[in-house]
This record gives sequence, structure tokens and C-alpha cells, in this order.
Amino acid sequence: MSEQQGMITATTTTTTAPYTADEQAEFLAALQAYVGQEIGIDQHGPDPVNTPMIRHWVEAMGDTNPIYTDEAAAAASAHRGIVAPPTMLQAWVMRPFGVDRDALGPNPYADLTSLVESHGFTSVVASNCEQTYDRYLRPGDQITLRTVIDDVSAEKTTALGAGHFITTRQDYFDQNDERVGSMLFRILKFRPAPKVTPVPARPRRPRPAKTEDIAFFFEGLMEGKLLIQQCAQCGTLRHPPGPMCRNCRSLEWTTLESAGNGTIHSFVVVHYPQVPSFDYPNQVVLVELDEGIRLVANTLDVPRDQLVIGARVRLVVERVDEELALPFFTLTEPTPATRQDDR
Ligand SMILES: [Zn+2]
Repeated sequence: MSEQQGMITATTTTTTAPYTADEQAEFLAALQAYVGQEIGIDQHGPDPVNTPMIRHWVEAMGDTNPIYTDEAAAAASAHRGIVAPPTMLQAWVMRPFGVDRDALGPNPYADLTSLVESHGFTSVVASNCEQTYDRYLRPGDQITLRTVIDDVSAEKTTALGAGHFITTRQDYFDQNDERVGSMLFRILKFRPAPKVTPVPARPRRPRPAKTEDIAFFFEGLMEGKLLIQQCAQCGTLRHPPGPMCRNCRSLEWTTLESAGNGTIHSFVVVHYPQVPSFDYPNQVVLVELDEGIRLVANTLDVPRDQLVIGARVRLVVERVDEELALPFFTLTEPTPATRQDDR
């Protein structure tokens, strides 16, 4: 009879630990020196196997088999009397919660887990449990438990991380020191894999509102040109673009490609609030182009201490993504540092 639960599969043996093969072998030898050591003193069941505890158990489990509770039915069965459910094995010696573990004697298991943890295998998960039953227990049986460190594995790689499987074996004996059952309990002490936080894709710059009036401006930038709207009647330049000449009220217009040279008329350095698609501090300049109109743009490679009103700048058109190009301004020639306050 045996029962097995909750397998964790170890995929490969590995030597990815941050220490040499020799050190790893030495560590494994130190771990495996614990194999065979008994954990604590024998634990005697506080009560013999008894029918009230059996009844509580089967009621909780919903097990209605009469061989556990009905004297007459049990006597008529192959067991010739009431027996305890095999899976109650642990219940006969179970300690109350909060018992002083040190009072139970030496605990090499605690030393073993400390050693494992000292090498970074700090996380734990129960891996699997396998019980073997040698015979049915009957009322009156006195159960004693002995626990032994049964196995420590070499380092294994699992989906949770690299670690060592540690198996304990609990052997259950009766009043005649005959083994009545056994349980292998395996845990994985593992080094938690580092959490990988996905870096979110940088959001794109906000899209300009593309109206019929302004579409030419962004289309020109995609071709590397800074186009300025110009009245077809009187030749007045205007920016931002609009439908009508403020000088002669003509609705007819054309464009002029700027030479891209200008002067910083004013600027602001934005610190907050920070919008994810921009770099901060965000230097925004109002450039007076030599053609006579003013344009708002970002700077490109302009040190903060050279960002001054009156500095000469030239245009650099840059693609900021696959469908948007923007004008930037860089210094025509570096100016002597004359720091001004942020506006
Ligand atoms: Zn005009």
C-alpha cells in the first residue's frame, strides 16, 4: 500500500551555482553527511490507537466504511475487528502546535537546513509524500515514531529555481518494535529565481493633432524639411499654421522651407510633471528663426549651462518613431557658460 502526492519534477542536474565544482562537491558531501542521522528522540503516541479518535477522523473525512466504526460489521470482515484507517498514521504521534522542538532532543535536520540556507537555498516547498503501510493498526496499539534524514540530492534545476531535495523518513513502530508503516516526506530547498520585471516599452510621443491646416508641416518633417506656411497673396509667413493670412486675409497659401537657423528667444526646463515619453529635465525652446517666425521645439545635445537666451541654434530634424519626425535645435556653436535661472 502506498500513496503519493504533489510531485515536483526536477529537470536537469546543473552546476550553475556561483561556486566552483570542487566547492560544490564539498558542499554536497557536507549535506550528505546528514543522511542516516536520526532527528530527535523517539516520539511516543500520547494515546494508544482508539475508537473515539478513529470515529472523529472518519467523520471528518466522510469515510463511511463500517470496518472503522461498527464492531459487528468489522468482526464479520476479513479484519475480524475494528481497524484504524491507514492514512491516520501520523495522527497517532502528532504533536500539538507550538511544542518546544528543542525538548525533543538533537535536531540535525535544523542544522542541515541552516547549512543549505547559508548557500542561498532559502526558499522551501513541499515536494511529495509517500506513505507505506505494513499492517492495519488496531485499537490498543502503541505507536512510536522515529525520524531519519533519508536523502539529500545533488543540486537540481527546477521551474522554481535550483535547489536540493531533502527527504526525511518517518518510521512508525508498534509496542513490539515492529514497523507498522513509513512515510517519506520530501521538500525542495531552493534558491529563488530572480524576478524578472519586464521593462515596459517606452510610450511613444503624443501624436500631433493633424488637421488639414497643419498636415503639411509634419509631412515636411518626415522628409527632413521644416516648412513654414506663407501667404500666397502677400508673402507673409505664419506659424503655427492656420487657414487665413492675418495680414491680407487671403485663404491662399504655400510653403517656404526654412534654412533652419535661429536664435533662442526663450526657453523653459520642465522637471514636473514627467510624461513617460519625454526625457527629463525636458528643455523646451522658443526659437526665432531667421525667416522671422517663432517655433517651439526641444533641444538636442544642449548642455543646461549653455541653454541661454540669444544662443544661436540650428535645426536638426529627427525621426522619433516610425511615423513621426520632429524639429529639434542644437547649438550652432557652443556659447560661453552663462547660466540663467529656469523659467
Ligand atoms: Zn497675406
